[in-house]
Amino acid sequence: MLQHIADIHTHRLEAPAGQAVINLPDTVLSGVPFSFRAGALYSVGIHPMYPGDWEQAFHAVETLAHRPEIVAVGECGLDKLSPVALETQQDCFSRHIALACQLQKPLIIHCVRAWDELLQTLRRSPAGVTCIVHAFRGKPQLAQQLLRAGLYLSFGPRFNADSLRLCPPDRRCAETDDSGLPVEAVLQSHSEALKRMQS
Ligand SMILES: [Zn+2]
Repeated sequence: MLQHIADIHTHRLEAPAGQAVINLPDTVLSGVPFSFRAGALYSVGIHPMYPGDWEQAFHAVETLAHRPEIVAVGECGLDKLSPVALETQQDCFSRHIALACQLQKPLIIHCVRAWDELLQTLRRSPAGVTCIVHAFRGKPQLAQQLLRAGLYLSFGPRFNADSLRLCPPDRRCAETDDSGLPVEAVLQSHSEALKRMQS
């Protein structure tokens, strides 16, 4: 698992090596070469909002995901605000799950307003993949549902404090995503929220 990494999902390419999982920019999906930094860790996947050619993009994901610097598949998932048909998204998401399973790398999931479909897709997929829902901001009821389904939750700078509290520490991750904040600031806000709850 990735829990020893402070920041499990960031778009900041210059994030400290080894302390963050850096999401590769979309440009790699259309074949633009990327220079990997020594010691840095990365993830690659097709965001449901990706505007380019998904077939070409998945081919790039498959090729890149084998590299040792790529420690997770994603972000990928389902987003009802995306102009891409939900069926196409589900199909592509299933391919990411199968790839993560094959490579035994965790999956970083983006999900907006499609929780039932997400759980359905996961139920139909091979088991044994560690699934992390990134930037989780949902309410406690949804958090419970996802935790019961075996998912991990990653909390960023914006989060529901009750959900953060009920998530067991061994299923909880932190991330900076596209905030540009240092991960220390995010971790600080989490620990303050946890402390407030206890008193
Ligand atoms: Zn992201």
